[in-house]
Amino acid sequence: MNHEFTYEVAATTIVFGAGRRHETAQWMARLGKSRAFVLSTPNQADDALGLADELGTKAAGCFTGAAMHTPVDVTQAALAKLRDLEADCIVSIGGGSTTGLGKAIAYRTGLAQIVLPTTYAGSEVTPILGQTENGLKTTLRDARILPNLVIYDPELTIDLPVAMTVLSALNALAHAMEGLYARDRNPISTLMALEAFRSFKRCLPGLVENSRDLSLRAEAQYGCWLDGTVLGSVGMALHHKICHTLGGRFDTPHAETHAIMLPYTTAYNEVAALELLAPLGEIFGGSPGAALYDFSAVLGALLSLKAIELTEADLDEAAALASENLLNSVSEKPAAGHSVQSN
Ligand code: NAD
Repeated sequence: MNHEFTYEVAATTIVFGAGRRHETAQWMARLGKSRAFVLSTPNQADDALGLADELGTKAAGCFTGAAMHTPVDVTQAALAKLRDLEADCIVSIGGGSTTGLGKAIAYRTGLAQIVLPTTYAGSEVTPILGQTENGLKTTLRDARILPNLVIYDPELTIDLPVAMTVLSALNALAHAMEGLYARDRNPISTLMALEAFRSFKRCLPGLVENSRDLSLRAEAQYGCWLDGTVLGSVGMALHHKICHTLGGRFDTPHAETHAIMLPYTTAYNEVAALELLAPLGEIFGGSPGAALYDFSAVLGALLSLKAIELTEADLDEAAALASENLLNSVSEKPAAGHSVQSN
């Protein structure tokens, strides 16, 4: 136990419970807001339009064009639509892509944000924004980026397909795993990370059997909140740098890349950080990396980069790029040591 640490907590109000999305107007009022700009991806346009309908005069308008990795041209299109609406807050309903668009708008306008997450990406509780322009992804951290309020309504995740549920959850657990050995970790981030692992261990096998079980969905959102909070509060390291490199260089899908890499990066790091990762072995049984491999296999998760069409030659290039970037990150951010900024 480390008795010398710094604990910084950012103020986001977290609301949990089935059906609580229907309280969105009340929570807007609690924030002193009365005109929402409602966001979604094209896939979830019905959810955004339904929510706007429910908000009635409290909905200023909708933008349903959110896209993966927050392209700046999409943000500009949303800002153009926002200009004439006199909105005073953003309501994002969706996964990390929609939350990313809300954050990008809030960063540029200072508008308050309410997020209704529908995946387990965890972006809703971090002050981190990753955005892409001209094929380049940059990541920034700013207080304006952190959403003001999050409503975790498990009913919004009931239709998340099983495969996406598993990938999204393993993606979330990668934040918790790296939180365990983050140089700026503290007793609270460790406690939250381990509870996230316990939580997903309790609910994921059952969700693979019955993805519409509401109490298991609620448990998964609890785990997701814990994972996201860890991501937002301590630095990430090797696992995130490798995934960032693979995504940036080979355009591999976000959640899949994290899910596939998780057992391997855990196994690699357990040699250097055995004491810190050992609790994972206690939760899952066995050595941490092998135990996560078995857990992923039972859930039917992808277990090889070959499954997302990478070749052995790609891996050599990725390894060289990732270690080069890692060294740069260390020199750029000395206070956080090996921690790197990544989402
Ligand atoms: P996503 O938001 O891109 O969603 C993937 C697809 O699934 C979309 O078409 C979406 O509409 C659909 N979908 C979402 N929820 C659904 C549901 N309940 N039912 C049916 N379909 C649903 O995917 P994601 O993995 O949540 O987010 C990935 C993005 O989030 C990436 O751009 C990643 O970089 C970012 N991210 C950012 C942070 C951060 O802290 N900044 C953290 C994690 C992820």
